[in-house]
Amino acid sequence: MTGRTHDLAAITVLGAVVLLEPLRTVTLATALVAVLANQIGGILPDIDQPTAPLWKNLPEGKFLGKIVDKSIGGHRFLTHSILGVVIFGALAWMLLKFIHPIMGHVNIGLVWWSFLIGVLSHLVLDSFTKEGVPWLLPYGRKFGFPGKSWRLTTGKSLETFVVFPLILIFDIWFCVSHYNELLILIHQHLV
Ligand SMILES: [Zn+2]
Repeated sequence: MTGRTHDLAAITVLGAVVLLEPLRTVTLATALVAVLANQIGGILPDIDQPTAPLWKNLPEGKFLGKIVDKSIGGHRFLTHSILGVVIFGALAWMLLKFIHPIMGHVNIGLVWWSFLIGVLSHLVLDSFTKEGVPWLLPYGRKFGFPGKSWRLTTGKSLETFVVFPLILIFDIWFCVSHYNELLILIHQHLV
């Protein structure tokens, strides 16, 4: 899937979790950092691709991307597995602990969960593509659903004109059907 579909899916799952769970009070700083972490998590597994948005936007990014791609086993390998999620989770937690002293108003536990939701949504979404995802590495078989001939090809019109708009329509429906919770969240739980 493309980066924009991943980012939309990541924020969609985050929004659903926030509104379906009992509402909790968070600072504005926590909410903003959590959304940012979620969006980074949503595209992070594709750092194993030299053409990933991250590498495109960095000076010498293509070169760096190729090095990372080779060193973590190529596209759809370590970063697209449960083992990869555990490694990302551990590194993200260490980073959050490290920078927490300068982000006193931020609940790093919530930011961490938000990041993980982004990463997991990426893996689930990629499981709908023909290539599949090696969820159980080091066991190398790639899994996907439904059957291979029904799955999507990344960046093709089905993704652009069907999957992406469908997720958007779901978002609109979800916001409308949970409008009251959304209002309570904004007015009473964001401090
Ligand atoms: Zn991917």
